[in-house]
Amino acid sequence: MYSKDNSIIYQNGKFINPKSATGDIYSQTLHYGNGVFEGIRAYKTNAGTKIFKAKEHYERLHYGAKVMNIPFQYTIDELIDITYKLLELNELQDAYIRPIITTGANMGLGSSDESTLIIQCWEWGKLMGDKLLKVRTSSFQRPNPKSCFVDAKVTGHYINSILARNEASASHYDEAILLDMNNNVAECSGANVFIEKDGKLFTPPKGHIMPGITRTTIIELCQEVGIPVEEKHFSLEEMKQADHAFFTGTAAEVVGLKSIDEYHFPKSWESTLGYKLMHLYKQEVLGERSKNLSKAV
Ligand code: PMP
Repeated sequence: MYSKDNSIIYQNGKFINPKSATGDIYSQTLHYGNGVFEGIRAYKTNAGTKIFKAKEHYERLHYGAKVMNIPFQYTIDELIDITYKLLELNELQDAYIRPIITTGANMGLGSSDESTLIIQCWEWGKLMGDKLLKVRTSSFQRPNPKSCFVDAKVTGHYINSILARNEASASHYDEAILLDMNNNVAECSGANVFIEKDGKLFTPPKGHIMPGITRTTIIELCQEVGIPVEEKHFSLEEMKQADHAFFTGTAAEVVGLKSIDEYHFPKSWESTLGYKLMHLYKQEVLGERSKNLSKAV
């Protein structure tokens, strides 16, 4: 699914077939989850292939490497150039891009002083599909920000997301909403959440969440077109009084929710701010949005 016979990946300075990739069985990433990664999308636009917010994604990768004390020498510009080259070699324009920095051999717990950069790309539709999602409240909380850097995309953190996602699937839900340690709504297993109430949007502030690049884009779009939006904590009870809700993420893009636990969002999706933003977001990533026309929303 992720690679074909002629796929090319980047590994430490070389463009190679995935079958020739090497890995270290003593890597700290494998044993302890000390690695950092990104999820990026490229789009086929009228002006050619465009990697959406490449700089922001690679800055977050750098930040993750820094806080996890993983040595990493590539500059943002180098990373962007390599990624465009990789897309070209794979003849991909609409693509999901997965850079990962794995760490070297070290069975101790201090960070290894070696790292490997791997970048892969493949064609991938919207992660959570297009239909409205039936979600449940997870019995798992988001990690306490004092136990790790919740805003860094560290491989090991995703155990929390996997537990929540598996629990949701096992109980026949599409996805999970995780609360933070203070019982406020935090986010989905792999996306941020917005709720709509009386014509205004609310999304949890930074602190207990992965501050998504899509979330920032949505807030910026709201500000540009005059949709009221506020970063504010809200409880599960408040979410269950909302008119509607949606998730945002690079892989998921913008996707509406049908229900949370027993509560069905009352507004029709097509009449919500989330629906408008889903279309605006698509125009934004495709570079098709004229700033003057945007007020028409
Ligand atoms: N929350 C979590 C836990 C995620 O894994 C992601 C995906 N990176 C997001 C939110 C959304 O982030 P972004 O919009 O940067 O993809």
